[in-house]
Amino acid sequence: MTKHKYPVWVEISKSALLNNIIQIKNNVRKSVPNLKVCGVVKSNAYGHGMSLVAGVIADEVDWFAVNALWEAIQLVKETGTQKPIVVLGYTPVSALPDLIEYPNIRIIVYNIQTLAALKKLVLKYKRGFKVHIKIETGTGRQGITEKQLPKFISFFKENPDIILEGMSTHYANIEDTTTHDYYEFQLANYKKFIKVLKENGFNPPIKHTACTAACFLFPKTYFSLARPGIGLYGLWPSKETRLSCLLQGRETLNLIPALTFKTRIAQIKTLPANCYIGYGCSYKTTHWTRVAVIPVGYFDGYDRQLSNQAYVIIKNKRAPLIGRICMNICMVDITHINNARLDDEVILIGKSKSEAITADTIAGMSGTINYEIVTRINPSLPRIIVE
Ligand SMILES: *Cc1c(COP(=O)(O)O)cnc(C)c1O
Repeated sequence: MTKHKYPVWVEISKSALLNNIIQIKNNVRKSVPNLKVCGVVKSNAYGHGMSLVAGVIADEVDWFAVNALWEAIQLVKETGTQKPIVVLGYTPVSALPDLIEYPNIRIIVYNIQTLAALKKLVLKYKRGFKVHIKIETGTGRQGITEKQLPKFISFFKENPDIILEGMSTHYANIEDTTTHDYYEFQLANYKKFIKVLKENGFNPPIKHTACTAACFLFPKTYFSLARPGIGLYGLWPSKETRLSCLLQGRETLNLIPALTFKTRIAQIKTLPANCYIGYGCSYKTTHWTRVAVIPVGYFDGYDRQLSNQAYVIIKNKRAPLIGRICMNICMVDITHINNARLDDEVILIGKSKSEAITADTIAGMSGTINYEIVTRINPSLPRIIVE
């Protein structure tokens, strides 16, 4: 029985995180020795706990990436990291003054208005900024188009205090396919931008395009910095990515899922046949049933779609969910688990001695991807480091 007081919690394996980052690093460095690696810890480190994860992998990465400027500031405040941090998402113009105190944070720019606002800060505070630009190569989300590029080039020529340190892009179709011509198209576009920038005297030293799937499959995407996220956490970007590795004859890395999502038994009762369980009376017992009530629900990030579908693990045995998942509670059938007791541990995502329920399995049941399953685990739940 666990000693701590939490009804629902997340355990993060330090050795799994280290295994994953070291494997990814060794893998990319086989093609590009000394390639720099950026640990993507946005969105609470994909639900794993941003500062906790960053603390564990800090010695193994050169950069960190987050989505928002406030996350970057939180990362600096909580971990004291001196490493450069790149903000992948949008930084509102009104948030730019926050950069003044944090010289290690780089925003990614793709609006000329953002640069104009930075220029005002340069004049006011008499200091420069390093920025990265994002290139639209075919993903159709943030990024500078070919037509917009000359304006940016003129800006950087006229404003040497705003230093073009990096350029990035992101691939639209690596994870969802085993046919990879679209990435080739995007890579060719990216190279066109490099060429135009070079012709204008710019060669940003930090070129970064490779997410986890690209890290596993395409050394041509590495440039000067790899940017893996999901792989750090021990999850594959998709089945197709794994299949593509096999098809290309690449070694598949031994990733270890770092996260275990747990709760404990809040009540045990035995109900006769023909009893309804939960809201909507969606489940009816067919025999004497031992029911465990567990104190977790969709508030915690345990998706309501899993109702009457998923199972949990108690005492190394599967216990199916019966009835609907409520906001903070759900019920499981433990008729066959005679030794289950109040407060016993319940695994929602993770593995026991010989049973497992993975984020991928749950994602399949919920009609989504493993990224969403782990990312939506409520950030307010405690994250505990194990090993
Ligand atoms: C989230 C993100 C990544 C990491 O992607 P994974 O598939 O998790 O490795 C890389 N680059 C950008 C721009 C991202 O938004």
